[in-house]
Amino acid sequence: IIDIDGLNKWYGAFHALNDVSLRVAPGERLVICGPSGSGKSTLIRCINSLEPFQRGRLEVAGITLDNTPSTITRVREHVGMVFQNFHLFPHLSIAENCALAPIHVLGLDKRTARERAVQQLEKLRIADKADCYPAQLSGGQQQRAAIARALCLEPRIMLFDEPTSALDPEMVGEVLDSMVALAESGMTMLVVTHEMGFARQVADRVVFMDAGAIVETAAPEGFFAHAQSERARQFLSKII
Ligand code: ATP
Ligand code: MG
Repeated sequence: IIDIDGLNKWYGAFHALNDVSLRVAPGERLVICGPSGSGKSTLIRCINSLEPFQRGRLEVAGITLDNTPSTITRVREHVGMVFQNFHLFPHLSIAENCALAPIHVLGLDKRTARERAVQQLEKLRIADKADCYPAQLSGGQQQRAAIARALCLEPRIMLFDEPTSALDPEMVGEVLDSMVALAESGMTMLVVTHEMGFARQVADRVVFMDAGAIVETAAPEGFFAHAQSERARQFLSKII
C-alpha cells in the first residue's frame, strides 16, 4: 500500500532523507523510531505530500506522488495524519473539526458529515464533547478528537507523528489505547513514537532511522532484545 524506492529529500543544502526505501503491506503496522533530527517526521510528511521530495519514487495507495496539487489532494483522501500538537482548529467545535474535510474533500452534505463525525467520536469515546471547543478538552481528549477527525475521511493509511509526546503522562494511556483499537481494526499504520510498550504490543516491524537513512528494520522482539546496529543499541540504551 506504500512503496518507497530511493527517496531523497533536501532542505536547501541539507540532505534530510538519504536513499530511503520501504514497502508497507495493507494492514501492516510500523513503528518508526530514531534520534532527534534523523528524518522521521520528514519521511512521514513526504508520504502525506506535506513535503515535496527531489529524487526517488513514492507510491501511496496506488498513487505515484509527483508534488502536483491534484496528486496531493488525491493522496490526502486516503491518508490520515495525526500530529504531536493535535492541530485542531480552535474556532470550530470538535464535531465541526471532524466534519470539515468530509464536506470540502468528499462533498458530503452537512448533516451526513455531522453524523459521520459523531460516529467516529463515539468510537473514540468522546461523543459527549462533540459541541465543545478544543480549548475545553484535555490534551488526551483533543488528541482522540484529532484521531476521530482523521478517520472521518475513511483513510486507508493512518500516519502518527509522536502522538503522545505533548501529553501529560496520565493521558498517554488513553490515546495509546485508542491507537491499539485502531490497529486491531486492521488499519495500516505508521507511527513515529518512542513508546516502546506500544511498539511491542502492536508493531509488525520497527524501523530505526539515523541521519536521514533507515539503518535497521526488524520485528519488535528482535529489535529490542538484540538490535543489529551499534547506533540502534546506543539509542535504545538511552530511551529504555
Ligand atoms: P524529532 O525527533 O526531533 O522530531 P525527526 O527525526 O522527526 O526529529 P525531522 O523533523 O524529520 O527529524 O528533521 C530532520 C532534519 O531535517 C533535522 O536536522 C531538521 O533540522 C531538518 N529540517 C526539518 N524540517 C526542516 C525545514 N523545514 N527546513 C530546514 N531543515 C529542516
Ligand atoms: Mg519529528
